Amino acid sequence: MARVPVAEGVFTWPSDEPRLIGSRCAACGIVTFPRQESCPRCASTDMADHLLSRRGRLWAWTTQEFPPPTPPYAGPTGAAFVPYGVGYVELAGEVRVETRLTTTEGLRIGMDMELVLVPSRTDDDGNEVVTFAFRPVGGASLGL
Ligand SMILES: [Zn+2]
Repeated sequence: MARVPVAEGVFTWPSDEPRLIGSRCAACGIVTFPRQESCPRCASTDMADHLLSRRGRLWAWTTQEFPPPTPPYAGPTGAAFVPYGVGYVELAGEVRVETRLTTTEGLRIGMDMELVLVPSRTDDDGNEVVTFAFRPVGGASLGL
């Protein structure tokens, strides 16, 4: 089965050490994720791609107990839906990333988290669609 990224330009692909692709404003230094064409702080359009840190700290989290609106959500619905963790991971000196979490067990605010790529669904062409998530550092491997 071929693997394809959930969208172009969200993370480096293919990569043994995936990184999220954000952007950094040359005028004021703010880092955004996802990447943006203009700065949300100073409106400069002098934005450059910026590979984000693979590690951060859990800032907030909750459990997604029901399927989100479709689109953009394209995963299982109804009885096939499995609740999953979502949260914000703070990357030091960069940005807080809204992200899926690989687990809802044993999470605590401030714990070290790392980026992984995980399968999210199978598309109409039979490809495995890969998205990003964060998992506790040293936790059980649920990534690819
Ligand atoms: Zn700026």
